[in-house]
Amino acid sequence: MCVAGGKMSGEDYDVLVIGAGPAGSYAAYRLAAQGYKVAVLEQKKAAGEDVCCSGIISVECFDSFGIDPAVILTRASSASFFSPGGRRLRLSKDKAVAYVVDRSLFDVAVADKAQAQGARYFCFARVVDVMVMEDSVRVEVVERGLRRKLEARALVVAGGFKPGLSQKLGLGRISRFAVGAQAEVLVGGLDEVEIYFSQQTAPGFFAWLVPVSGQKALAGVMADTRAGEYLEKFLAGPFCRGRVTERVSETRQKPIPIGSLPRVYRDRVLVVGDAAGQVKPTTGGGIYLGSRGVEVACETLGQALKVDDLSAASLAGYGRWWRGASKKELAPGYRVRRLYGRLSDRQIERLFAFVCSSGMAEALLRSPSFSFDLHSGLIRDGLKYALTYPLIKAGKVFRGKGGEEG
Ligand SMILES: Cc1cc2nc3c(=O)[nH]c(=O)nc-3n(C[C@H](O)[C@H](O)[C@H](O)COP(=O)(O)OP(=O)(O)OC[C@H]3O[C@@H](n4cnc5c(N)ncnc54)[C@H](O)[C@@H]3O)c2cc1C
Repeated sequence: MCVAGGKMSGEDYDVLVIGAGPAGSYAAYRLAAQGYKVAVLEQKKAAGEDVCCSGIISVECFDSFGIDPAVILTRASSASFFSPGGRRLRLSKDKAVAYVVDRSLFDVAVADKAQAQGARYFCFARVVDVMVMEDSVRVEVVERGLRRKLEARALVVAGGFKPGLSQKLGLGRISRFAVGAQAEVLVGGLDEVEIYFSQQTAPGFFAWLVPVSGQKALAGVMADTRAGEYLEKFLAGPFCRGRVTERVSETRQKPIPIGSLPRVYRDRVLVVGDAAGQVKPTTGGGIYLGSRGVEVACETLGQALKVDDLSAASLAGYGRWWRGASKKELAPGYRVRRLYGRLSDRQIERLFAFVCSSGMAEALLRSPSFSFDLHSGLIRDGLKYALTYPLIKAGKVFRGKGGEEG
């Protein structure tokens, strides 16, 4: 259970974790499981409060958290993708590849698991300052108007996309971000995830309808800016008109980092999850890459705590892993995203026509490089496949500026 106003100081913690999102609680669990004394500091009332997420994660990613499947709302073995003009591309597998989880219950379940291992949770506890000293880290926490100081041997920053703390720690900042806006709605006839591509509806990104239970669904838009306005446009537009019958909740919005934090570690400190930019550039999903980051970070930190060497050099293995992973996974994803951002709706329409008629999507779905979580292999194979088609090779599918025919 979260403790508000509980005794914070006077305890000797090995690790303080900032944030009780999936990354923070998973880190707390993995460190507590290694026998370390861990405290999680969360500014909200409790883990799982006011979350803004569709909760789509791969089966493998869900399994890695080892939590009760009761948090799963739907199992997804198919999805439909729509072009600006309404052309539909439906992809399906013979078994579930992803789950839609209740993100609030998911966060609570991961936090419960960490607490069962002995991690202590302090809620209404906003970290406002951090200081790295020679033999400890010190954080300053505002808890219901009171300022307190806490010390530990090491710090894990898992506070989501908030540049302030990492900048204060001299780790740089992630300067680019998109925004995801989402609301709960009632929809008729929605039995799988639907993704909509149109620069008019979601510039540079996409919109979605995700079934959660009965007629209840999540309607969302990811966009560079003004995602809330685009969500209204999406709900009133041709994709939703006549299908979305009622709005159940207000819109929630949250920034999604685009790009990696320049440095994800220093002496006594590791940064994980959205705070580090561990987000898939293609979809904006961060739970998978964040959990991989946590696993490597906690392995590295566990070893460093054991030998009591928390120098930057001792934690550098985590930085090396992330540099390699971001080069391999993030870089091609950002290139594709930049390319997509430059296409007009007309060009997207042609691309859809090509993908539907060439059998490319089915070929990629069957290819050994298919992964719900890692998209670099798919991007590479997709390009190889496309370049065997003379029209793509000659650039004719993309020809034409601002939607004009080439
Ligand atoms: C609309 C939308 C839909 C999404 N859908 C998906 C999806 O389907 N699948 C997917 O994988 N990802 C999705 N994402 C992304 C996903 O939500 C994030 O990647 C994920 O929440 C990151 O987890 P985290 O633990 O790193 O950060 P967060 O979940 O942001 O958690 C950070 C926590 O730290 C706390 N905190 C912050 N600062 C402080 C402080 N100073 N002191 C104390 N506590 C602090 C916050 O209150 C919060 O609880 C979506 C995002 C959006 C916006």
